[in-house]
Amino acid sequence: MEAARIGIVNVDLFGAFRDPSELIAGANVKLEKVSIMRGEELNSIIKKLETLDVIIAGSTPTYDRRLFSRLPRLEAVVRWGVGYDNVVLEDATSEGVIASRLPAYILRDSVAEHTIALMLALLRRIPRADEYVREGGWERSDVKRLKDLIGERIEEKIVGIIGLGNIGFRVLELLKPFKPKRILVYDPYVPKEVVRSAGAEPISSLDELLVSADILTIHAPLTEETRHLLDRRSFEKMKHGAYLINTARGGIIDPEALLWALEKGVVKAAALDVFEPEPIPASHPILKQSNVILTPHIGSGTVESYKLMDEHSIKEALRIIRGEEPLWILNPEVLGSPKLRAGIRRRSQRPKNSLS
Ligand code: NAD
Repeated sequence: MEAARIGIVNVDLFGAFRDPSELIAGANVKLEKVSIMRGEELNSIIKKLETLDVIIAGSTPTYDRRLFSRLPRLEAVVRWGVGYDNVVLEDATSEGVIASRLPAYILRDSVAEHTIALMLALLRRIPRADEYVREGGWERSDVKRLKDLIGERIEEKIVGIIGLGNIGFRVLELLKPFKPKRILVYDPYVPKEVVRSAGAEPISSLDELLVSADILTIHAPLTEETRHLLDRRSFEKMKHGAYLINTARGGIIDPEALLWALEKGVVKAAALDVFEPEPIPASHPILKQSNVILTPHIGSGTVESYKLMDEHSIKEALRIIRGEEPLWILNPEVLGSPKLRAGIRRRSQRPKNSLS
């Protein structure tokens, strides 16, 4: 029987911390890594993906009808991550393709810890302090620059959380020992009692959060509703001199508006693990802002979580290949659809000596 092919598409560090061959031992599958460039031509993308049965997908490219309709062999896209804004679910369902992702608990603590790390790095000016020492400022006793390195404490601050899901909730828990003055939460989908019982104050409008928060951290998904949620209008409302952290999705912040806010001092400093676009082009003006800390979408990037992400994405792909129900399917309605691409299922159930 022909081996099923699993493509690891735009997940550069897949297999970096554990040997992927251990994960597929005994299964009749082939693993291959595929890279798709930003702006790559559709025909070229199709050529790279057309032999694959299941894709373990990074956060690019976008998987929509354009691709699904020209990849008749493709059974499923399993996101190597939690956010699935680059997989168009309606298109997957209408084309009979299973869409799945990883369970949030695998990444939750890593992203939450990265958020706190960025918050502290912003407040305590860690990158600038490091630069000061390396450039000889300490040796020269450069007092003028030293003053800029003196930080601020979380205890004195009002922290605003946008989105109290898995990660937002963990950030809230990690924040409590720092004893912020207040923790405010804006999440229109979480009942107020839940926010209160978590030890925070529910805020019913984004504007109200923006005018109050000294530190704002984003943990909502990227949806039509949250795209450019922080735009010029929002920044105009924001408390002057606030700190901003985004480890959710770049598209939630309008980058032009953020540049304006940084230049005007509305945002005193920002720490961004995600950006629009990704990767950030070398010529992008955000790279010239000294009051910005940038990390390359590695919020979930710990050895512990990457090992789990490799393991669970392969296990989900193997379940689909064996015709078993995927555990973390995003479009369960596709399973009952006559359009479901059941090629793998047929292959796996075919008697070994069948000629059909
Ligand atoms: P989740 O679905 O558990 O929680 C998201 C929360 O956002 C939910 O409580 C939801 O009600 C809320 N929300 C939805 N729309 C909102 C809106 N308009 N305003 C305010 N809140 C809104 O998701 P999660 O697992 O906590 O992940 C949160 C974000 O982190 C996602 O964007 C995800 O893509 C991102 N993420 C980033 C990394 C990384 O490496 N940087 C890794 C994993 C996840």
